[in-house]
Amino acid sequence: MEQVDLLVVGGGINGVGIARDAAGRGLSVVLVEKDDLAAHTSSASSKLIHGGLRYLEQFEFKLVRESLVERERLLRAAPHIVEPLEFVIPATGSGRAAWKLRVGLLLYDHLAGRKGLPRSRSLRPNDLGDGLTPALQGGLAYWDCRVQDSRLVVLNAMDAAERGAMILTRTELLTARREGSHWIARIHSSGHERSVKARALVNAAGPWAGDLLSHVRGTKRCPAVRLVKGSHIVLPRLYDGDHAFLLQHRDGRVVFAIPFEDEFTLVGTTDVEWCGAPDGPSISSEETDYLLAAVAAYFTRNVTAQDIVWDFAGIRSLYDDGASDPSKITRDYRIDLDTSGPPLLTIFGGKITTYRSLAERALDRLGPLLRKRGGAWTERAVLPGGDVPNGTIEEYAASLAQAYSGLPPRLPTRLAKAYGTRVERVLENVKSVNDLGEHFGAGLYEREVEYLVRNEWARTAEDVLFRRSKLGLHVRQDDAARLRRHMGG
Ligand SMILES: Cc1cc2nc3c(=O)[nH]c(=O)nc-3n(C[C@H](O)[C@H](O)[C@H](O)COP(=O)(O)OP(=O)(O)OC[C@H]3O[C@@H](n4cnc5c(N)ncnc54)[C@H](O)[C@@H]3O)c2cc1C
Repeated sequence: MEQVDLLVVGGGINGVGIARDAAGRGLSVVLVEKDDLAAHTSSASSKLIHGGLRYLEQFEFKLVRESLVERERLLRAAPHIVEPLEFVIPATGSGRAAWKLRVGLLLYDHLAGRKGLPRSRSLRPNDLGDGLTPALQGGLAYWDCRVQDSRLVVLNAMDAAERGAMILTRTELLTARREGSHWIARIHSSGHERSVKARALVNAAGPWAGDLLSHVRGTKRCPAVRLVKGSHIVLPRLYDGDHAFLLQHRDGRVVFAIPFEDEFTLVGTTDVEWCGAPDGPSISSEETDYLLAAVAAYFTRNVTAQDIVWDFAGIRSLYDDGASDPSKITRDYRIDLDTSGPPLLTIFGGKITTYRSLAERALDRLGPLLRKRGGAWTERAVLPGGDVPNGTIEEYAASLAQAYSGLPPRLPTRLAKAYGTRVERVLENVKSVNDLGEHFGAGLYEREVEYLVRNEWARTAEDVLFRRSKLGLHVRQDDAARLRRHMGG
């Protein structure tokens, strides 16, 4: 039987963040994820590392401040997958008053501090660019960041593994019980069951956190959790420019329109109360209509449901603060520590943006109970591939394009923005395109697939096309089928 300090359940952002922090403090760690890494909520986000401007309306100043501080840290830790993004808020003449938005942005700038991203500014109607309905009267602009959410999860898992953690994907925790000073857990993978003995158990099962507690014997009652579905649609590019839009919808909610994968615009999200098991959420026709209505209110381009090239939905697991409106439930997290025997730590709520500080706090509480002395260390640490010279990915990508001039022109840049300095491992000994192996379309070659299988726990074509990358939006169906055959399903 495997014996470790910490057994972490859940390979979403919070589970891998905790596994990484713990491994770096010298704890022995096993993480189990029943599906692929980031298979659920952590790949279905709006893909923003943001302070959350709208949370100011709910007076969540602590959450906004913490998120803005984390935004700077993540930008430094992973400049290849986190990048600054300007947001434009068009003025409609209805919705929130202009002065209110201005004050909100001044507060946002203030909470962000003086370093880092540029401050907010006012825009005249001509500054809004093409593609918007002419009735809009200028607006405001501010900065946040976007992230390749599922790659952030994988990089944390890689860092954890490089520091000694064992990451077991497609492995489910079935049951766990306390026995003396340890947890005894039954885990299941590929038809085989085995036991793991751990000094502490971390429940980072996201929307399954409450469900998991019912499989863990001897635990207290689960705190109240609300499950809220959020969906996105992906449309052919709605406008030119590298900026995103924050759109005020007719019901007072805000909807983002974000440039996505060069050719597309990502539009989302919704807030729909979810009852029942969190498996397989999908967008409803009401949510589709709601998002298309936001597009129609702001953009000149005529789009219908037939134009949607992709959609996805995820379930937020939120700590229930009693709010009746699902979009007003707090997005802050709660760490619940049960020490009525060997420790059980459960995570409720949270954001991708705050995963690092959440993990640090979790370990600050667990570490002393396990009598481990290693202190907090992730604040200034980079993630795998994040050590690009001067922290500027554009420069690094340009130098790679020069060094690998024999490769298809856009490939080195795409790889630099996915793998950072680890691209040198992906392209080890590659001199020309002939060394890359079979081509599966859209610049995806056998060499990259092999790297993903060996280093990033990719097992299926879906893992490669929609979580390790978003090449699924670019490859043709017959190429995707060929990749599926190549990867054995
Ligand atoms: C629509 C939407 C938009 C969002 N946008 C943003 C955003 O722009 N920025 C931001 O910062 N945050 C955003 N969030 C929030 C963010 O996505 C979540 O807070 C975060 O992904 C939660 O991560 P997690 O690790 O807790 O859960 P998950 O990612 O769901 O991970 C939990 C994992 O546990 C695994 N698991 C469950 N039970 C077991 C078991 N018994 N054994 C093994 N494994 C198990 C599951 O398979 C799952 O992979 C958004 C959320 C949604 C839904």
